Amino acid sequence: MNSSRAIQEKFTGCLLGGAIGDALGAPIEFLSLDQIREQFGYAGITDFYPAYGRLGAITDDTQMTMFTAEGLLRGLVRYRSRGISGAEIAIVHNAYLRWLETQKSPFNLARSIGNGWLITIEALRSRRGPGISCISALTSVTSPGMPVSDDRKGCGTVMRVAPIGLLYDDDLAYRIGKETSALTHGHPTASIAAGALCVIISQLRKEVPLNQAVMSALDIVQQDEIKLGVVHETSEAIDKALSLAKTTRTPSPELVESLGAGWIAEEALAVSIYCALVAEDFSQGVLLAVNHSGDSDSTGAITGNLLGLQYGQKGIPEHWLEQVELHDEIRQLAIDLVDIPENYFPDGNENQEYCDRIFKKYPGV
Ligand SMILES: [Mg+2]
Repeated sequence: MNSSRAIQEKFTGCLLGGAIGDALGAPIEFLSLDQIREQFGYAGITDFYPAYGRLGAITDDTQMTMFTAEGLLRGLVRYRSRGISGAEIAIVHNAYLRWLETQKSPFNLARSIGNGWLITIEALRSRRGPGISCISALTSVTSPGMPVSDDRKGCGTVMRVAPIGLLYDDDLAYRIGKETSALTHGHPTASIAAGALCVIISQLRKEVPLNQAVMSALDIVQQDEIKLGVVHETSEAIDKALSLAKTTRTPSPELVESLGAGWIAEEALAVSIYCALVAEDFSQGVLLAVNHSGDSDSTGAITGNLLGLQYGQKGIPEHWLEQVELHDEIRQLAIDLVDIPENYFPDGNENQEYCDRIFKKYPGV
């Protein structure tokens, strides 16, 4: 396998892994552990089960991850085609506004900003338990790129940022993760926890072992919390996950729940780090991440991002890859995240047709 194909395999694993974790958690997001066991048996859910009227249904977590990837690619296209940098955050904000448009009924393509490829996918025009913070912050945007001013720290930031770590390295990934999170959630912990996931993803992309990647993120987070003078919620949550994973205790839903329910940013991050660290393989890790009383689809999605990136597509059961909703489109985004940074150079590129096609797919706005 050439290096580009190998990277595609990992990126696809990361995004489809997240979608699969999201889809596994979707039918049990609002069930307690007792209710899950009552319905599915003591082991809980072990395979896709219908949600939102279909098998393998994704939720807002994957929808927003797709729009994050789209926004980043449009930012890159803008930079390469016009030499304009520094607008990444506003461009991702516009991508989230396009996602907001998909949540409205009736959907109006003409009203969405900048069009491009992603917004034309009809299956994305479906409400899948969208987060209240995201909907309300995006509904009242006055200027793209401006952070929201509230005290929300739901996990809606962490569950959507994996593409940032696929595209950017360490400190830059951390900053962009934080700044895009602040577009919808004003609490510093919501941004710091999302930034931490971006660092971990960027390290895993470079083949750094997960434990070490988490330690690097912890280091950056601790320094930032001190610099900002904020409570050490994210570093303490990461620390707790690391300590729990080091014990010899057999992973269980009860241990997962000892890290929190995952509705808030640092808890979703901690649960996902723990599940990924103790996982023997992709399936075991994502099933551990969804079978608990908390925010199953988000912890499933984040754990799926982490494990999918580590194992690649080949480590994910084939029937899940085939059954998860929008798998072709998600795979296309992952391939574009590898291909476009490598090949899109409009200045002096002999393949004008390719450049025109990419600009149409990801207009730089
Ligand atoms: Mg969701």
